[in-house]
Amino acid sequence: MASGGGVDEVSNKQVILKDYVSGFPKESDMYLNTSGTIKLKVPEGSNAILVKNLYLSCDPYMRPRMRQPIPGNESYVEPFKPGSPIAGYGVAKVLDSGHPNFKKGDLVWGLTGWEEYSLITTTERLFKIHHTDVPLSYYTGLLGMPGMTAYAGFYEICSPKKGEHVFISAASGAVGQLVGQFAKLLGCYVVGSAGSKEKVDLLKNKFGFNEAFNYKEEPDLRAALKRYFPEGIDIYFENVGGKMLDAVLLNMRAHGRIAVCGMISQYNLEHPEGVHNLMTVIGKQVRMEGFMVFEYYHLYPKFLELVLPHIKEGKITYVEDVAEGLESAPAALIGLFTGRNVGKQVVVVARE
Ligand code: NAP
Repeated sequence: MASGGGVDEVSNKQVILKDYVSGFPKESDMYLNTSGTIKLKVPEGSNAILVKNLYLSCDPYMRPRMRQPIPGNESYVEPFKPGSPIAGYGVAKVLDSGHPNFKKGDLVWGLTGWEEYSLITTTERLFKIHHTDVPLSYYTGLLGMPGMTAYAGFYEICSPKKGEHVFISAASGAVGQLVGQFAKLLGCYVVGSAGSKEKVDLLKNKFGFNEAFNYKEEPDLRAALKRYFPEGIDIYFENVGGKMLDAVLLNMRAHGRIAVCGMISQYNLEHPEGVHNLMTVIGKQVRMEGFMVFEYYHLYPKFLELVLPHIKEGKITYVEDVAEGLESAPAALIGLFTGRNVGKQVVVVARE
């Protein structure tokens, strides 16, 4: 640690995006820069905060941010800048603050950089962490953006009712595992799909889903869904898109709802697959609705009120896949697109 003019300057490892990505992302699309430094003080007169990053979140939406922007077809998320650190959700500790709402020692979750320390200038979407009697890493998943996604998508978009039949794809992931547990708590019949036997076992034995299946072993997804939903699906929580969506459309019940949360099977394709069975939406009077989690952040206190007691009483559980060290972050991120992660993918930068 160097000290110039009373301000500590420390080395600051960063994960940098090398260039825009097409196709499946590779570890080599990113590199670790070990030569950077940062002053552990916010610039005089600024209302930024300076944080030490503790846990970083790997999220599928980060893939569209690696794509070269196409004029007229911009993604809903701002692209990363090649040569600059990757940005994403994380949990951090405030080391210095020029902002009246934050002080040294506060713990926060929200958008930060993939680096050891970050100067955060946009503080509007940072949440202060008040409950520390749960694992801090939960604020990248269960108690952070993915948890809020499950909550908003299920309760606000799906209009769920007791006894309804619910299907969730990518069901063992950061969002899906919680949607399934919410649906079970409400008294629904819940089935999930996932990409390995280990994940299917987790769904049935740890998260309490009624049934689960490995979609990679099903040659006919329409028939697989018919097997688990002989009377049809009331609610589909869509995380994957593509062939699964087409199969689901053929198995929806009248007045069913589809919450379109994500379509990860399409994120690495240069040309998205078509959807063929959309006409069933008419006859079955299905409501299909996309949503963005940040439109629902005002409900965060309500979400915590619901979920914290459930965690403490053991009624909601959560599985994380923890990668150690910033240097493991690129591999952890690309693993989302091959299903390597089992549960919420977290990267530990520092534990305190
Ligand atoms: P996650 O499930 O923890 O990780 C991604 C999982 O997707 C992988 O583990 C893999 O599981 C599955 N997957 C990858 N490629 C696939 C493919 N080609 N076909 C089918 N499944 C594939 O991720 P998450 O954070 O919970 O996110 C789930 C979805 O929610 C994503 O689509 C994400 O973009 C979306 N999302 C949306 C919002 C919003 O505001 N709308 C917010 C957060 C997340 P398997 O082994 O099961 O294949």
